[in-house]
Amino acid sequence: ERKRRLVEQLVAEGVVKTERVRNAMLRVPRHEFVWPSQLEYAYDDIPLPLGDTGQTISAPHMVAIMNELLEVQIGDRILEVGTGSGYHAATLAVLTCPSLDSPSPLVYTVEINSSLVKFAESNFMRLGFSRVIKVVEEDGSKGYPEASPYDRILVTAAAPKIPPPLIEQLKPSGRMVIPVQSRFFEQNLILVEKDVDGRVRKNNAGPVIFVPLRGDYGF
Ligand code: SAH
Repeated sequence: ERKRRLVEQLVAEGVVKTERVRNAMLRVPRHEFVWPSQLEYAYDDIPLPLGDTGQTISAPHMVAIMNELLEVQIGDRILEVGTGSGYHAATLAVLTCPSLDSPSPLVYTVEINSSLVKFAESNFMRLGFSRVIKVVEEDGSKGYPEASPYDRILVTAAAPKIPPPLIEQLKPSGRMVIPVQSRFFEQNLILVEKDVDGRVRKNNAGPVIFVPLRGDYGF
């Protein structure tokens, strides 16, 4: 009930624009992904701390904005950098494979913090996402070439620049959404589109606040 109210609020605000993104957010129980101490805030539209890791689960409106920009199609192969709780990846799984019953994974999500890898994996297992989502413990700033190329790439931590390996691992006609630090410590959400000929176009979707991306192409 609280989930439904939150999603309808995001629809009213114009943040959720499509039926597909609305359905995905209604399908995924955010209260199953928040840290236990944060349970009562699960359906507030705010980011929440993931225990003492220093990381956060993004605010629902940010998940919605990113998913609308990604325009995920059924059957898309998706890379997420920054698994955190696994909540965002779960919404991507519903968008690419609504039955959650895929013969092989479609969502590859890379996390550098091993306690969050375990947390997200247990969430996926308990909630039936394990067939569609594969969690990888790695430096995701280099992408995950093993399962590339990807139709969609989502980065949920702010990068100093768009990591070149991520551009390489994006298919022609692919879309990537990534927060990028600009001058004066400001971050902007960037939509990267690769056309059929492999040319890349970037668009600024506005200012955002994310935790920093670590690793080789991070801070
Ligand atoms: N999408 C998450 C929110 C992630 S917060 C959710 O739905 O809950 C950003 C995450 O990026 C953190 O968990 C952090 O540990 C991770 N991260 C930072 N740098 C990384 C890197 N180089 N590779 C993989 N994960 C990284």
